[in-house]
Amino acid sequence: MDYQSILEKIYREILPFAGQGEQAGYIPALQRVNPDQYGMCLQTVDGCSFSCMKADTRFSIQSIAKVFALAMGLSLRGEGLWTRVGKEPSGTAFNSLVQLEIEKGIPRNPFINAGAIVVADVLMSELKNPEEEFLSFVRALCGDDSINYNLEVANSEREVGYLNAAIANLLKYHGTIKNEIEPLLMFYFKMCSVEMSCKELARAFLPFTNRKRFAYAGYTLSISQIKRLNAVMQTCGFYDEAGEFSYLVGLPGKSGVGGGIVAIYPMRYSVAVWSPRLNSKGNSVMGMKALELLTTYTEESIF
Ligand code: GLU
Repeated sequence: MDYQSILEKIYREILPFAGQGEQAGYIPALQRVNPDQYGMCLQTVDGCSFSCMKADTRFSIQSIAKVFALAMGLSLRGEGLWTRVGKEPSGTAFNSLVQLEIEKGIPRNPFINAGAIVVADVLMSELKNPEEEFLSFVRALCGDDSINYNLEVANSEREVGYLNAAIANLLKYHGTIKNEIEPLLMFYFKMCSVEMSCKELARAFLPFTNRKRFAYAGYTLSISQIKRLNAVMQTCGFYDEAGEFSYLVGLPGKSGVGGGIVAIYPMRYSVAVWSPRLNSKGNSVMGMKALELLTTYTEESIF
């Protein structure tokens, strides 16, 4: 498959969408990012890498970090993880409070904010140094020790993080989280603030793609656990647009409000795309379009 030509053809075809949408305005530090950027990288399980445009530019991975946190949580707690968080699509926005109240403080899934805060709580309870451990895990997955938190982004989000604080308070009220709210929120915001490029993200997701032994920085997952993690990405990876992404793209994936999207085609490739302008659901406009065209032109998807 000539992935390089396909990535270039995709870029040419999505250019008309370049001005659509806005970058995430509710996090002041993200609003300062130049919205008119685009990058894409596809890496195959047999070691080939294909890039287009700004595939080396680092950006805020935001909710894509929730996949790494879930992998650590599954490794530490196994199926026991699911007593405090569900695995059903929410059909609501990533930061919705309503469903959480109706469902008595048990978040629908680990990829909405409430669920990710619960997974962060599990990591805080299990680990002596959760912030260092999280970073070590991501660095090991990607094979790059320079990956780091962006404290400006994390602090900026904390300053205006009223909604996430409300979610954490509701979780605490229902006894779903055990740790103190303030350090827990800061850990969550730091995870979201990690910066990676499309190339680095594609590399970091290869271990979820290739069904080889999964052991990174002391965290192991079985093939069956990787299947489950991918299943949650397929059903819950795009907030209230998970059905749309499944329909258009046909791959498991995860988006973030930094404008990044990662998707995987099991046993074949992982792909990351980034462009900061988001649609009304919080997903990258150009990113969604690029991945739709990728599976259309390659005629490869899990369906
Ligand atoms: N840090 C963001 C928030 O909590 C992550 C949201 C996202 O990327 O979906 O609002």
